[in-house]
Amino acid sequence: MVNNGIRCSEMAPGIVRIVLSHPYPPSNVYFLRGNPPALVDSGHPGDQSFRVMIQALHSLGYAPEELGTIVYTHPHRDHLGGGVRLQVPGWIHHREVEGLADLYESSRREIDLRLERARYIFGHNGDHFFSSSDLDRFIHSQFVMRGCIPVEGSLREGDGIQLGERTWTVLEAPGHHVHHICLYDPSDGILLAGDAVIRNVVTVGNDLHQYIATLKRLAQLNCRLMLPGHGAPIDRPSKMIAVLIDLACRRKELILELISREPMGVPQIMSGLFARLPKHYAAYQSIAGQILQFLKALKAEDRIEECIENGRITFIYSPNPDSRK
Ligand SMILES: [Zn+2]
Repeated sequence: MVNNGIRCSEMAPGIVRIVLSHPYPPSNVYFLRGNPPALVDSGHPGDQSFRVMIQALHSLGYAPEELGTIVYTHPHRDHLGGGVRLQVPGWIHHREVEGLADLYESSRREIDLRLERARYIFGHNGDHFFSSSDLDRFIHSQFVMRGCIPVEGSLREGDGIQLGERTWTVLEAPGHHVHHICLYDPSDGILLAGDAVIRNVVTVGNDLHQYIATLKRLAQLNCRLMLPGHGAPIDRPSKMIAVLIDLACRRKELILELISREPMGVPQIMSGLFARLPKHYAAYQSIAGQILQFLKALKAEDRIEECIENGRITFIYSPNPDSRK
């Protein structure tokens, strides 16, 4: 359903997906009907995202003050942002509670990570079509969040939590973020997947092996429906997960093959992997962040080495099979 530009759709009884389109990447917030109702994730911290979310709540017949709680699948800004303004007591992975108490620190770290990733892109002039002003604009858009989000409680593997009309089981699902959780309703085979599973997109963010192990585990749930933090619902999850695992494994080998031909930086690797790359810098850097996780895994296996020369960061094939794990 699209009403005055607000996109809300009922995914399953009592579960409404709200799409917040701005800024990139569009985020999903899930509204769980009940007394009181609850949210899972809360979108970006920007004005526009928040305004659309509030309009969406009103279009569903609720005021934000009626929300009972918010569960955060992981502490990335595109999932926490609305919660900073709503100030509704929330739940998060038990190791991220302190992060909610001081968003400045966690937000600063997230921006530092983005700057660190940019070093791998801008050390390679000429290998991409972005300028340093694109980076400046991007970093400027990632303003530091301040304040806190009140915490109602922390969640860990196997916990049960009543949200809306359903009881959800907490699954720890590292790989996109080390402290990522998913919520599973076994009675109906539905998973609120956060960024652990997104349709057709490999979302490794902190560890490739953990990401694949999480995908395998989630596939074994035999869910009928997965509701991701970005993009469309996944109605044949096992099939999609098999596609993602295959894609991740092949991508790793392809990256190794590219580097075995000649030393390469991240932009060259990206050009070698993808026929088309995004013209939007945020999207480009997001893909670079994924590629860096593959490179990290290959380095840990001693299959490649990282070389820094005059600010240029290159990855070199390491042909010695004895050193491979
Ligand atoms: Zn996200």
